[in-house]
Amino acid sequence: MAIVDALAGHAMEIRARVAASAGRSGRTEAAVQLVAVTKTIPAATVERAFELGFTTFGENRVQEARAKIQDLQLPGIRWELIGHLQTNKAARAAELFSRIQSVDSLRLAELLHHEASQLGLVLPILLEVNVAGESSKSGFAPGDLPAAAAALRHLPALQPEGLMTIAPLSADPEEIRPVFRELRRWRNRLRQESEGWNELSMGMSDDFEVAIEEGATIVRIGRALFGARA
Ligand SMILES: *Cc1c(COP(=O)(O)O)cnc(C)c1O
Repeated sequence: MAIVDALAGHAMEIRARVAASAGRSGRTEAAVQLVAVTKTIPAATVERAFELGFTTFGENRVQEARAKIQDLQLPGIRWELIGHLQTNKAARAAELFSRIQSVDSLRLAELLHHEASQLGLVLPILLEVNVAGESSKSGFAPGDLPAAAAALRHLPALQPEGLMTIAPLSADPEEIRPVFRELRRWRNRLRQESEGWNELSMGMSDDFEVAIEEGATIVRIGRALFGARA
């Protein structure tokens, strides 16, 4: 009898759900990138996830990520920052991460641009958007996005790839469908004005299916894969 551990079981289930929701939006599973969110998850478990085919991991703290990144130097592994970045950690973040999803101010963008220039690289970023205007969350107000996108054209060491949002907490993912839809509208608008704004990072464990139906190209999944965090 095959023994399937919990992580492998969750991985199979999530992939099936991603594929089904991608299908409902007229796309294939390959159009949706799965970022496994590993905050609080030990390196050994991240390595198991890597063996199960997950290659991109999301962390929300530079310090915690740094230890794991140094521990797990595996071929093809990628790390993305998804949490708020303090300006005094911008240099370290530019060095460690393949992409920064949580660029939430122009000041942070300017700092990252400076650090990326120093390192001689072009750093992929997403702009974090506070779609619902929650005071507890950072991120650009949607109406500020066109000006921010224009300002980024003067920062060539950054490569803006799209938008990211953390949806409001809700017991019913249907309630936040309009948030995902609005983020997609803004992405479409930016994409009309400049090249490169293709990504939509939206959807987490409790709402990724609705997010994919609304066009998510990146979902960030922690608990549904690894179980509840300690
Ligand atoms: C923790 C976190 C996630 C994953 O949340 P789950 O509910 O565990 O899937 C996604 N995005 C961000 C920004 C996070 O901080």
